[in-house]
Amino acid sequence: MTKVRVRFAPSPTGELHIGGARTALFNYLFARRNSGTFVLRIDDTDLERSKEEYTEKLMEALQWLGLEWDEGPFYQSNRLNEYISEVNRLVAEKKAYRCYCSVDELAAGRELARKENRAYLYPGTCRQHFPEEDDHRSKAGIKPAIRLLTPEDGETIVYDLIRGEVHFDNRGLDDFIILKSNGQPTYNFASVVDDLQLKISHVIRAEEHLSNTPRQVLCAMALGYQLPTYAHVPMILAPDRSKLSKRHGATSVEEFRNLGFLPEALINYMALLGWSPGAEDGVSELIGIEHMIELFSLARVGKTAAVYDTDKLTWMNGQYLREYDLDRLAEAARPFFIKHGFLRENPGEMELHFLKAVIAVVRERAKTLIELAEKSFYFYSDDFAYDQKALDKAFKNKGVAAILLDIAGLLKALNTFDQNVTETVFNEYCAKNNISPGKVIQPVRLAITGLGGGPGLFEIMELLGPARTIRRIQQAAASIRNTPQ
Ligand code: GLU
Repeated sequence: MTKVRVRFAPSPTGELHIGGARTALFNYLFARRNSGTFVLRIDDTDLERSKEEYTEKLMEALQWLGLEWDEGPFYQSNRLNEYISEVNRLVAEKKAYRCYCSVDELAAGRELARKENRAYLYPGTCRQHFPEEDDHRSKAGIKPAIRLLTPEDGETIVYDLIRGEVHFDNRGLDDFIILKSNGQPTYNFASVVDDLQLKISHVIRAEEHLSNTPRQVLCAMALGYQLPTYAHVPMILAPDRSKLSKRHGATSVEEFRNLGFLPEALINYMALLGWSPGAEDGVSELIGIEHMIELFSLARVGKTAAVYDTDKLTWMNGQYLREYDLDRLAEAARPFFIKHGFLRENPGEMELHFLKAVIAVVRERAKTLIELAEKSFYFYSDDFAYDQKALDKAFKNKGVAAILLDIAGLLKALNTFDQNVTETVFNEYCAKNNISPGKVIQPVRLAITGLGGGPGLFEIMELLGPARTIRRIQQAAASIRNTPQ
């Protein structure tokens, strides 16, 4: 059996899109499942659009997702000599030829095809020329492009693990350029040379590349290498079934990260876009990466497009947020708390300890790290408005200011301020005065959090400590007394 070697080959022309990340994930899972090697290749031959900064960002995004590669990054821009030497070999073997057609000539051909309403195919003008002619033109300083000599009829068959045999009529493929006149290889050619020289066994990539594959197969055959096995994974569509784009909100891994998603949740969600783990008992939708590696197979990747659903991803993130290791969650949440002004850039031990305690209390109710920070505001700030709806309900009852002051007085007298003690105080107060607990808890909650709902009140109070709790209750009482009823 051939050793499994797969590659992820992003072009550094933008951030890592969720589609690209899903391709990387499937490659990673396939490699790990088959004890193979996961190679990272950077397709940076498009000099105008490729940026080093994007390469950095792509790698950072992969690392953040935990998709560590075993080899690479291999930069296509460093491998120019390999491509040129293979091109020269093909020309020497008469499997490729120099094309001196001018830009204008080609444009005229394209224009004619457009007018005649047919697809443009290069007519093979330069297929046959004499070496003297070449000589003559190169002396005149004209730089040729190199085209692959392709069969005029018959078909090229792509064997795809997901799609089966896909047939392409060779009459629809022209002698395409493999090396541009500026000396740069085209994607199809460079990609094949790399796949073959890096001994890639399986090319797992987006469906949009299926139409490139017959050209790549022809290149590989001309080069005389053994073909890799192909697997084209289905597209990811937006909820409205259109192509997923910026207008649908976040689409890059970086954006999801900034919105407070956890890498494990994103990985879990992406894995299910096109792959289904199977009906085995006990396989839930929430699957950690190790379990995914055990279950992954390309046979369970579907052909039909997967539809992306933000609500599901957000739900899933919430599930991960609840179960996450608290230390790691605090680490992940830290930048969001800093951004909200709740933490300093370099928080001390005590602040981090407090952060963890806050997160432990709030995380049940948050679906993203942004929400986690937002919902923690009353632990960090005294300066908040009361929620109007809650206020109408909780502060308008008769005698509520007196109740608040009673509670403040009782809390003041305490020596210990943990949740059990304060809860007992509340219960005893209610029993003694024959008041239903809600009539006490609701106004106190509103006084200390500004909200009508949230985590357990006694947990919150313990974390806030007596001084802040009592002060907020007293302030609420004063504000009720000062508000004309
Ligand atoms: N650079 C191509 C892309 O980003 C890679 C295609 C391939 O995997 O061959 O789409």
